[in-house]
Amino acid sequence: MSRVLSVRSLLAGLYILLIASCGLEQSTRTEIDLLGTTCTVTVYARKPSPVLEKSFARIREIDRLMSYTGDESEVAAINRKAGDGGVSVSSSTLEVVERGLYFSKLGGGRFDITIGPLVELWGIGKENPGRVPSAEEIRDAVSRINYRRVRIEGERVALENPGMAIDLGGIAKGYAADEIVRILKDSGVKHALINLGGNVYAHGKKPDGSLWRIGVQNPESNRGSYLGVLTVADRAVVTSGPYERFFTLDGKRYHHILDPETGFPVENGLSSVTIVAENSMDADALSTLVFVLGVEKGLELVESLEGIEALLVTEEKKLFSSSGMESIFKLTNEEFSL
Ligand code: ADP
Ligand code: MG
Repeated sequence: MSRVLSVRSLLAGLYILLIASCGLEQSTRTEIDLLGTTCTVTVYARKPSPVLEKSFARIREIDRLMSYTGDESEVAAINRKAGDGGVSVSSSTLEVVERGLYFSKLGGGRFDITIGPLVELWGIGKENPGRVPSAEEIRDAVSRINYRRVRIEGERVALENPGMAIDLGGIAKGYAADEIVRILKDSGVKHALINLGGNVYAHGKKPDGSLWRIGVQNPESNRGSYLGVLTVADRAVVTSGPYERFFTLDGKRYHHILDPETGFPVENGLSSVTIVAENSMDADALSTLVFVLGVEKGLELVESLEGIEALLVTEEKKLFSSSGMESIFKLTNEEFSL
C-alpha cells in the first residue's frame, strides 16, 4: 500500500513529492525560525523519534554557533574581535569557515563569507529594510569585504581589519543538512528527506526502492507550482533565488543575493539556480556563487567540478543546465524551455 503526498515547504524553492510505503514508520518534524528559515526532516524508520530529536538538537546548535548575531554565536565573537586578534572556535564553525573560504577563493570573491558588512547594510530579510543605501555606504561596506583577510591558526579565526564581518548565511544551512545526514546514517536510518529552507537532501532511496522526486519551484509563480522534477538518491538539491527574501521600493525589487563587486543585489537575468551535489554544504555555497556568476561563467565553473550539476532558470523562462542534468531532470512546465 502506498500513499502519494505532496509536501510543500513553507519557505523553500523545492517541492518534495514522496510516496510513503508501509513497513517503516514515516515521521516528520518541522520547526520554524531555525537557521533563519523553516526546517523539516522526514524519516522512514522503525523507531524514528530519538533521531528526529537528535537532528533538531544539532540544527539548534549550529544555529547558536553560526548565526550572525546572538550571545553565544562564534561568528558574532569573531566579528566583534575584527582587527583585534582572533577567537578560538569549535571544530564545527572552523569547518564551515574553511569550506566557505575555499568557495570564496574558487569564485574569485564573488561568493565571499566576509560579506557581513554588506548584508547588514542592506538588511534584506529583516523586519524593516526598505531603504537603498547611499553610494558612499555601499563603497564603505564593499571595501571591508575580503576573504583573503581571514586568518586561521589552529582553531583560531581572525579577521585582520576592523569593520570586517563573516556571514555564513550562504553556506551554514548546507552544513546543517550534511550533519543531519551524518546523524541519520549513524542511527541506521536508510531513507529520509531533509529540507532546511530550500536545502533539500534526499538520503538513500525511497522506502519502496525507487528514487526520490524533487520538484524545482517555478520562480515566476509565488510558490504556486514547480517547473520540473529531479529524480535522485543520496543527493543534496539546493536552490538559491531572489524570490524568497527581498523588498520592493519604487517598483524595483532588491533581493538578498549580493554581488561583493558592485555592492548591489545581483541583476543578471537569472531567477533561480539549483545545484545537485553529493553534499549539501558545497551545493549551498555553489547555488549562491553560480547565481552571482550568471549563466555563462556559472556553467563553466560547474562543468569544471566533479560530481556537481546545475540548473539555471532565467527571468525569460529559459533553462540552462550542466551536461549531467539531462539524465536526472525532467521539465514539466511548458512555459519554460531548455
Ligand atoms: P537562502 O539563504 O535564501 O537559502 P542563499 O543560500 O543563496 O539563499 O544564501 C543567501 C545568503 O547568503 C544571504 O542571505 C547572505 O547572508 C549571504 N550572501 C549573500 N550574497 C552572498 C555572496 N555573494 N557571498 C556569500 N554570501 C552571500
Ligand atoms: Mg547558498
